[in-house]
Amino acid sequence: MGDAGPLEETKTLKVAVIGGGPAGLGAAIALSKLPDVEISLFERAKELREFGAGIRIGYNCWRVLELLGVADRVKGHHKTSTIHRNGLTGEKVGGTSVANLPIKYQPRRVRRTRLQSALISKVPPGVIQLNKKLASLEDLDTEGVRLTFQDGTIHTADLVVGADGIRSVCPD
Ligand SMILES: Cc1cc2nc3c(=O)[nH]c(=O)nc-3n(C[C@H](O)[C@H](O)[C@H](O)COP(=O)(O)OP(=O)(O)OC[C@H]3O[C@@H](n4cnc5c(N)ncnc54)[C@H](O)[C@@H]3O)c2cc1C
Repeated sequence: MGDAGPLEETKTLKVAVIGGGPAGLGAAIALSKLPDVEISLFERAKELREFGAGIRIGYNCWRVLELLGVADRVKGHHKTSTIHRNGLTGEKVGGTSVANLPIKYQPRRVRRTRLQSALISKVPPGVIQLNKKLASLEDLDTEGVRLTFQDGTIHTADLVVGADGIRSVCPD
C-alpha cells in the first residue's frame, strides 16, 4: 500500500437563498440534495402564501418539477391546445397543439397555492426562516457575504442565491 496522503478537510458550503417564491423554494430543494451544503432560505413575509389564482405550467417546468420530485403533487386542469386571437377582431392569429407530448408534460393551469405547497413539502425542515427581509449585502471577499436583515440580524454565507423577485435587493 502506498502512503496515504493527509485527509482532506471537507468544508461545508453555506448557501443563503433570498426569497421563498417558486425560484427560491426550487433552489432550496435542489441544493438540499447536495452533500456538504448548508442552506438557509430567508423570506420577508411572516407566512408563505401565494398571490394570484392560477399559473400555467408547461413542458420545461414539468421537467424541473419532476427533477425536484414534486411533479406528482401538482394537480391542475389540462390544456391540450392554445389558440391566439386578435383581441379586437377575434381573428385567429396562431396557435399551438401539444397533443403529441406525453400527458404528464402537457400544459396545465394550476392553482398557485398547490404549486407552492408541493414545493414547500420538499424543503427540509428548519431551512425556511420567515419575517427576514434582506436589507443589504456586503461582499467580504474570502470570508463570504454578510447579509443584513431589516430586523438588525446578520447572517454570513459563502454563496447567495438571489430569488427575491423582480425588485431584487441582490446585485447581479
Ligand atoms: C398576474 C401574473 C400572472 C402570471 N402568470 C404566470 C403563468 O401563468 N405562468 C408562469 O410561468 N408565470 C406566470 N407569472 C410569472 C410568475 O409569477 C413569476 O415568474 C414567478 O412568480 C417568479 O418566481 P420567483 O420565485 O422568481 O419570484 P417571486 O414569486 O416574486 O418570489 C419572490 C419572493 O421573494 C420575497 N422577497 C422579496 N424581497 C425580499 C427581501 N428583500 N428579503 C427576503 N425576501 C424577499 C417575496 O416575498 C417573494 O416571496 C405571472 C405573474 C403575474 C404577476
